[in-house]
Amino acid sequence: MTLLDRFLKYVKIETTALEEKDDACSNDKILNLTNVMLRELQALNPSEITVNQYGQVDAKFPGDESKDAVAFLAHMDTSNQASGKDVNPIITEYQGGDIPLQEGMVLSPKDFPSLNHSVGHRVIHTDGNTLLGGDDKAGMAIIMTALSEILEKKENHRPLEIIMTTDEEIGADARHVSMGIVNAKYGYTVDGGDYRYVSIESFTAYAMEVKVTGKSIHPGSAKDKLVNAGNVLIHFQNALPEFLRPEDTDGKEPFFHLCNFQGCEDHAEASYIIRSFDEVQIQEMIKLAKLTARRINDRLGYEAIVLDIKEQYHNMKVILDQYPQIQKEINDIYAKFGMECRYEAIRGGTTGSQLSFMGLPTPNLGTGDYNMHGKYEYVDYDEMEAMVKVVKEMMR
Ligand SMILES: [Zn+2]
Repeated sequence: MTLLDRFLKYVKIETTALEEKDDACSNDKILNLTNVMLRELQALNPSEITVNQYGQVDAKFPGDESKDAVAFLAHMDTSNQASGKDVNPIITEYQGGDIPLQEGMVLSPKDFPSLNHSVGHRVIHTDGNTLLGGDDKAGMAIIMTALSEILEKKENHRPLEIIMTTDEEIGADARHVSMGIVNAKYGYTVDGGDYRYVSIESFTAYAMEVKVTGKSIHPGSAKDKLVNAGNVLIHFQNALPEFLRPEDTDGKEPFFHLCNFQGCEDHAEASYIIRSFDEVQIQEMIKLAKLTARRINDRLGYEAIVLDIKEQYHNMKVILDQYPQIQKEINDIYAKFGMECRYEAIRGGTTGSQLSFMGLPTPNLGTGDYNMHGKYEYVDYDEMEAMVKVVKEMMR
């Protein structure tokens, strides 16, 4: 099977991630792809292959023991922000200009300038009714193609571990990886966009829930007695730094993001996410939020605001810096193929942000997939082919 065959086969299987479940995969349909992976990996004679209760597959292929075992990871589920049912992939030899999709829709370099890099390449897109699912079936196809080419030609390779995960799109995949059986010393998620970008740095992330209890009194006799929970919450929000919001920050700047806000005079609540690339800075931000709540409470004379702040994930750079050989390997291989390699601090998290702290340092590689999670999603097939070469070299 070629890279193209694999990719077209995987995207036609509906694998939309739904609501997280404690003991199973979010959508039974994803298991159809799990079964395809099981068959394809089994055919390559792994020394060990397991499927866990979440439908995640782990397959091991013994290799040269003098080299570090390495894992390659991709996720089988797709985003629920657009339909992933009846995906109709269309291959266009792209010569520039607009690509017509369904009635009234065009994939245009005016809207998506990244298309300008794909002139002269094969572009695979949808008919405009669904997402494509290149996130992350492009990664799956790249890994499976690299693996089968190495094994079928009986080339020397390192001990390899292939991990196909589920429920990445709802943030559950890393937690569901059976870390107890993972042998690899480090890994790569193949789950990015532009193939030139490698992510070794991610946000450090906390979630903050704010609960406000007011003192509700009939407004006609409220003078000096009413504490309106809604107003207290607005006060808290306004007291946080106005320009540390996602809409005003970029690059390595941190933010407080208000994601949900509701309430009445009696009670109000809000959810925030707090993000920074710096562990010290994010602790300062948390202190600032706590101080703000305390000052407001002091003025009101009771615990009107209660904060619940939870750790989510950390900047994987803290861990990856302890493994300089990984970055050297990446640099050497991209240079060998004359490929530009740009390190990107992603303003988000990856599966690797969590796995790196669970014992598997895991940077992220690009796949050539663009406009993820929507109907304008496309892959640059030439970029996918280039990534097969990169992954094969890493496997060797
Ligand atoms: Zn993805």
